[in-house]
Amino acid sequence: MSKPIALVGIGKIARDQHIPAIHADPDWSLAATVSRNASVEGIENYPTLDALLAARPDIDTVSLAIPVQPRFEHARLAIEAGRHVMLEKPPGVSVAECLNLQVLAQRQGVSLYATWHARHAEGIAEARDWLAGRRLRSLRISWKEDVRVWHPGQEWVWEPGGLGVFDPGINALSILTSVLPEPVHLNAATLDVPENRQTPIAASLSFQHSAGACVEAEFDWRLVGDPEWQIMIETDDGSRVLSFGAASMDIEYRRLYQRMAELVVDGTMDMDLSPLMHVADAFMLGRRRHTDPFFF
Ligand code: NAP
Repeated sequence: MSKPIALVGIGKIARDQHIPAIHADPDWSLAATVSRNASVEGIENYPTLDALLAARPDIDTVSLAIPVQPRFEHARLAIEAGRHVMLEKPPGVSVAECLNLQVLAQRQGVSLYATWHARHAEGIAEARDWLAGRRLRSLRISWKEDVRVWHPGQEWVWEPGGLGVFDPGINALSILTSVLPEPVHLNAATLDVPENRQTPIAASLSFQHSAGACVEAEFDWRLVGDPEWQIMIETDDGSRVLSFGAASMDIEYRRLYQRMAELVVDGTMDMDLSPLMHVADAFMLGRRRHTDPFFF
């Protein structure tokens, strides 16, 4: 029997991915939404999460598809009301707030899931297996897209906590941290910040790898035309290019909801914060360069 779930924030990603993924999943039924401005035909809507939690004790799982800045308060409210919570990426504006959510969820005995949709793209599991038996020489990430297309009019990405180009870049870091057998840590970064904004429009990252391989990433929001989401890997026994596209997001979001169903059934949590940790390090270590102002 399907379990009722509530979706909070009916914006771009909710419409593009969450709603179709929930509808396609026999484990879930979309029982309610929380939205200040929108609604989904045929689904009961509440203007605030508080109102939903008070009115619908039967809904024991809440999926948060809102921007990252209000995420902690929403997650805290839902967890304290004894609900399981699924977090869009990135899971929070800081590592500490995610760790605090984890503690709250443990106390309440509910499941908490920091989702990383890009980890569920086709080819990731194969790449992990392929890398496991090889010596890495280099891994280069190129994650470039047009911010006007992928974040149309979204002012929150430019506000503190909004991560700027790391909002998509963290997807690449979620893949990096999932496929590499050895851990890496950031040792240098350059962040290009438009002079009228708080967050970077482009970034270059360089990581230290335990066996000395070259691990680098280039993120850029100024690419006009088709996005370039690629990871080029060279080993002592061949090379590979992992290329990603928007089409694969359908399957990625279906897998996220399947995973959430497993976590709820098992009474467990999945809170890997390693991609967020690298972003936090980039903001700590990164050298800032001011660039041209950005306007939508
Ligand atoms: P969005 O469309 O700008 O916002 C989503 C919705 O969140 C808004 O429509 C609004 O819904 C609600 N919201 C906004 N500010 C809020 C606030 N202060 N308090 C409560 N609710 C608020 O953003 P999005 O592109 O869907 O992204 C949401 C999350 O998904 C982000 O973390 C992003 O990184 C992630 N994501 C986005 C994409 C993408 O392609 N855009 C892809 C993968 C992941 P209501 O008007 O309904 O209240």
